[in-house]
Amino acid sequence: MSDSAIVQLVRPLVREMAPYRSARDEFEDFEAQKIFLDANENPYNTDVNRYPDPLQRRLKRVLAKVKGVSADQILLGNGSDEVLDLIFRTFCEPGQDEVILLPPTYGMYGVLAQLNNVKAVDVPLDDNFQLDIAAIMSSVNENTKAVFVCSPNNPSGNAIPFEQIEILLKRFKGLIVVDEAYIDFSEQRSALSLLETYPKLMICQTLSKAYGLAGIRLGIGFANPEIIDFFNKIKPPYNVNILTQKTALASLNAPTVVERQVKTLIEERQKMERELPAFGFINKIYPSDANFLLIQVDYAQKRYDQFLEQGIVVRNRSSLLGCENTLRITIGTIEENITFINVCKSIDQ
Ligand SMILES: *Cc1c(COP(=O)(O)O)cnc(C)c1O
Repeated sequence: MSDSAIVQLVRPLVREMAPYRSARDEFEDFEAQKIFLDANENPYNTDVNRYPDPLQRRLKRVLAKVKGVSADQILLGNGSDEVLDLIFRTFCEPGQDEVILLPPTYGMYGVLAQLNNVKAVDVPLDDNFQLDIAAIMSSVNENTKAVFVCSPNNPSGNAIPFEQIEILLKRFKGLIVVDEAYIDFSEQRSALSLLETYPKLMICQTLSKAYGLAGIRLGIGFANPEIIDFFNKIKPPYNVNILTQKTALASLNAPTVVERQVKTLIEERQKMERELPAFGFINKIYPSDANFLLIQVDYAQKRYDQFLEQGIVVRNRSSLLGCENTLRITIGTIEENITFINVCKSIDQ
């Protein structure tokens, strides 16, 4: 077995475990013209009567090309939420290991830490929602397995500069997870180009936001091939179904629609950034590299209720650290955003 530093971070139980082998693992050639009598499937063709490829090889080949990585650096999951859960289960020994979270941030990291009985140590982002690297480093101890960095960050919207992520990679010896759910909307470079240099970097992306495919549940993890092997060993064998794989392939093979939508959404965000300061009830619009804006208002619950009365559902993020009286507004279609601005006018007194 390899003894590279990253492998040493993997839980001993996961390192030693023998994987479950499904029928489709035993006989791997998916596109072979064979009579398949090995998996107790119904033989009558419906396009979904066969189990999916457990390693999603066709989809990974296309994704590898689109993202400029190699297919063996990719893990696919039932949404990024499954990818994130696999990170905990691969690296964090329950009741012993710790992770560092950087609030205010995506709530799922904390939920997964709790579910996996892993202590989450909070190191707040600074006043501009940027990394406080000194504070992060002083919270590290011998049980700290991972730091979760969300860039662009949900709920604040700002990206973490690439250089800051690289500084953290140089200083922290454990795993750095960079969640890039909103990277397609960002001016900031993806951390993908750092994968070759830093074997302890893990990047999560998703088809749920820019690609408009939240309903198919496809999350993407990028990491060193040695790490991907461990994920593949412990993941549920058929975690990405055939309909999801097909829909994702179709979207990735015809990227122009999504490219146009992303461009429009960024322009619409910029338009909102220009128009919202005119309203008296809005105190602050936080800089965004994503498809949403965090705004600070006078009375968040009152404004939330007023939007709802007019048929607009926004997210009240006031309970999060450093986010008192904030609402998170997703950028909608051009028409939806006009309606939103009109409602802002009507409630602005
Ligand atoms: C929306 C979001 C995700 C997406 O999760 P999926 O399970 O892939 O839909 C992941 N991370 C962040 C920060 C998000 O905001």
